[in-house]
Order: sequence, then structure tokens, then C-alpha cells
Amino acid sequence: WKNAPHDLGALLDLSRTHGERLFTILDDERITYEANYRATVAFARALRGMGVGKGDRVAFAMRNLPEWPMIFFAITTIGAIAVPLNAWWTGAELAYGIRDSGAKLLIVDSERHDRLREHRDAMPGVEQWIVARAGTAIDGTTALEDIVGDPKSWAGLPAGDRPRIDLDSDDEATIFYTSGTTGSPKGALGTHRNLVTNILSGGFSAARSFLRRGEPVPEPQPRTSLTVIPMFHVTACSAGLMGTMAGGSTTIFMRRWDPVQAMEIIEREKVAMTGGVPTIAWQLIEHPDRAKYDLSTLEAIAYGGAPSAPELVKRIYEEFGALPGNGWGMTETMATVTSHGAEDYLNRPTSAGPPVAVADLEIRADDGVTVLPIGAVGELWARGPMIVKGYWNKPEATAETFVDGWVRTGDLARIDTEGFLFIVDRAKDMVLRGGENIYSSEVENVLYEHPAITDCAVIGIPHRTLGEEPAAVVHLAPGQSATEAELQAWVRERLAAFKVPVAIRFVADTLPRNANGKILKKDMKALFADRDAAAA
Ligand code: ATP
Ligand code: MG
Repeated sequence: WKNAPHDLGALLDLSRTHGERLFTILDDERITYEANYRATVAFARALRGMGVGKGDRVAFAMRNLPEWPMIFFAITTIGAIAVPLNAWWTGAELAYGIRDSGAKLLIVDSERHDRLREHRDAMPGVEQWIVARAGTAIDGTTALEDIVGDPKSWAGLPAGDRPRIDLDSDDEATIFYTSGTTGSPKGALGTHRNLVTNILSGGFSAARSFLRRGEPVPEPQPRTSLTVIPMFHVTACSAGLMGTMAGGSTTIFMRRWDPVQAMEIIEREKVAMTGGVPTIAWQLIEHPDRAKYDLSTLEAIAYGGAPSAPELVKRIYEEFGALPGNGWGMTETMATVTSHGAEDYLNRPTSAGPPVAVADLEIRADDGVTVLPIGAVGELWARGPMIVKGYWNKPEATAETFVDGWVRTGDLARIDTEGFLFIVDRAKDMVLRGGENIYSSEVENVLYEHPAITDCAVIGIPHRTLGEEPAAVVHLAPGQSATEAELQAWVRERLAAFKVPVAIRFVADTLPRNANGKILKKDMKALFADRDAAAA
């Protein structure tokens, strides 16, 4: 990180020095760094020709295609603001993001185009549509391939330099939408600095375990990683892509998540890193055909973005011989604020790790002002160069959440004497039973230890006099069985009686999650509707 870039233009230039190394792989499309650079420059010039300038919003929505990083860098390196939309959203949701961001240009793949076609009138601000991978030209739109060619031909594009634009680290670069786990998604307005900070954070965290042992820090090596989470999420883009491009690593995309295909790719391409969200790691571990594949190249399985069971840490290490990694962050912090790995994580499997070098953390009381002592549970506040400017177009929410350079996270947490962060629960997920606080994640962790359970969620369901009571939704591993009474007894042996779920529902599929792998607890209360009626 000797020449750490200060903006995405400088990062793009740095990435070009990796030349013929592979940048992305999707099926038989193998894109080198040089080819990616050329396509990015060609597209950046085209965007300028279409009148896109500093501060303009350009929205795009597509699968994890090689076009994704190319488009992202073309937009941001000419000073415009990239709005990567959640490709899993419905047409109406996409139209909302496009309207909310005020995008004047829209870039979509053909699936998203089909989904949005009937919403055209709801997006009057969009002046131009660019469609990727449509096959045949679509009326009223421009084909991306007509501008930059298809990815396999990018290497043959002219080798000119990118347009030189005055970029400042504090210029706005992105609007990423929050996951919408607790309410409707909010656009977080990020800067160039917010994004490139992740390179430093990642490098420092990788070095830390050597420094803690008093060993010299080796030069970072390029690696191959399998990216299975969507690029429109900050974890994949800022925690993943930024470091990848700085270090010359290779990213493999998949058309859709499929554990068997993932294992085939890991074996064939000798993948060193994968993960993203805890559920991906579980699906690999639990897969009945895992032994058929050579997964020995895996060095690390890292994830974040959602609570993970301590059980997972142990199993990754014991069954894959890989190092587990975890990190805490949110869209509002452009991903990485804490980073956890190697023996630190094995020794403290319930922690999300210590803060990265450039972040400060505080645990504060409900008043949002009083700083609580070490070990006390309260709301987590964070500060550092990764905190975004605020929410796009939401002055009230911005004023509530971003205060004096700090972000109020909505997560309940504690910090131990060595500075390790322990996420306890989302404030909104805590079950308040009478006067007792029940942290849903504490009960979930106990359920996860049960051998039959591979997926679970604990939520609060209404109770007439207590306010709320804990209830659980569980998914059992194939071929396993367990009854409600058995699972309740399992929890009762390990936790106080008031934390035992009063009702447990078994579901055949894994639990409902949003595109970012987060369990949608707000949608789960309906499973207990019959009980609510009885309790009322
Ligand atoms: P919304 O804000 O729209 O309700 P969201 O909070 O899920 O959605 P994100 O910004 O994607 O949107 O997620 C950030 C949240 O994810 C954090 O506030 C925290 O609750 C959770 N989270 C992130 N990393 C971890 C982690 N390592 N362990 C536990 N929880 C985590
Ligand atoms: Mg949030």
C-alpha cells in the first residue's frame, strides 16, 4: 500500500499495472486487467459524449457480470455518481431507486430491462437506456456492446489513457442502498475516500496477525477469489473489489449461487478465498457431496454483514483447513469497520474483531451521548474515513444517524478490554419480554449448536401482558429430525428459562433472506399469526 490511491481514477491506473493478469472470470470470459482498463476508458469517453458530467447520477442494475466493475469505474472516474441498484429488486423497487437517485442514465442487463419495461413512465428523469447482453437491439435503447464490444473483444480496444478529470478524495462517487432489512432501503452517499479506505483497512488487517506475533509482514500476494455475493452490495464492491484491484487478484463470478458449481470452480480454478455471508459457508460445509471435490486450495472463508454462529468458525477451520474471517460494517460505513481473522478469530469466535486502524468505536447509552465503560452493552457508534456523507435526499434520517462525524449504527454491542467488538443484536431485533432483554442472536447461537439445525432465527412475537416473547423458526439439516419440545429443552439447559422460545416453527426451506443474505425477520412474524390471535 505504498502508493495507496486517493480516488478511484488513481486506483484504476494502479490496476492497469497488473496488465495481463486475469481480473475477472465468468464461464469462458476471462478478462485481463488491461482489457478491463481499455473497456472502462472507452465507456468513460462514451458517457462523457452523452453529456454525463460531475455529480450526475448513473444507475445500473445487472447480475455479477464482467461489465459490472467496468461500468462502475467508467462512471466514477469521470466524476459522476454510480448508483448500483439491487438486481434482485422487482421492477417497481428498481424504479423507486432510479427515481430516488435522480439518475439520468440507466444501464441494465436484458433481464432487468424486461423487468423495468412497464415502469418507463414512472422514471421520467431517465434520458437514456443502455442495455447489456440483449442479443438483438431493443427499440429506444443503446446496446452496450455497440459502445465497447462484448467482453471477449475488450482486449482489442484502443490503449489510450482514461479521460483526465479533476477528482478530489471527498467528491461523491456512489449511492449504495442499504439492504432494507429493518425498513425501506436508504441511499448512502459515499465518496472516493470512503471507497479506497478499504484498501488500507484490508492491508492493515492482513498484516495485524503477523504484527501481533512479532513476525515480519509478508508482501501481499495476488489471489483468486470466488465472489458469490452480489456486487451491488458494499461488501463485494468496497471490501472486495477495491483490494482486488489494488493487489492484482482475480475475481471469479458465478451466474447464480449454486454450491455444487461453486465447488467445481474452487477445484478447477484453485480458488484461495470465498465467502461473503455466513450462509454461503454453511451451504458448502453441509453439502453431502463436498468430499468429491478438492477444496484444499481454500485459504480463507471470510464473511460479514450478518451474525454468524461460533460453530461455523470451528467447522471452517477443522473441515476445510481454511482460516475463517469476519468483519462488521454497514452500507453507511462502506463496509469494513472491524476485521477479524486467523487465530484471533479462532480464539474469539463470537467477536466481529477489532476495529481497523483508521476506525474509532464507542458504545453509548440510549441518550446517544454517554459513553459506556468497557464490557457494557449499548449502541455502537463508529467514526473514520469510511463513514459516508449521509443519506441521499433524506435530511432527517441523515441528521439522526450521522452526528459530528460519528454514525449511529442501530446495533447493540460491547467491546472487551483488548478492543474486540462483540455484536449483541440489532436494537430492532432485541426481544423485550416484560422487563427482560433477550438478544435474539444469543438464543440463535445456542440453537445452531444443536446438531440437527442448520438455519434459524429468533424473533419477538406479541404477548398481551409481557409485550413480547421469544419464538424461533428453524430449518433442519437433510435427514435430521427434532421436535419443538426437544429444542426447547436444549435451550433451557443452556440459557435462562425466560429466553426459551415459547413456540418453534419448522420450515422446509432455508429461511427467507434478502439479496444480501440477511434473514428477513420482519417477514417472519406472520408464521406465528395463529398464536397472536390466541394470545390477544
Ligand atoms: P437496513 O439498514 O435497510 O435495515 P441493513 O442494516 O441490513 O438494512 P446493511 O447496511 O447491508 O443494511 O447491513 C448492516 C447491518 O448488518 C449492521 O447494522 C449489522 O446489523 C449487520 N452486520 C454487519 N456485519 C455484521 C457482523 N459481522 N456480525 C453481525 N452483524 C453484522
Ligand atoms: Mg442498517
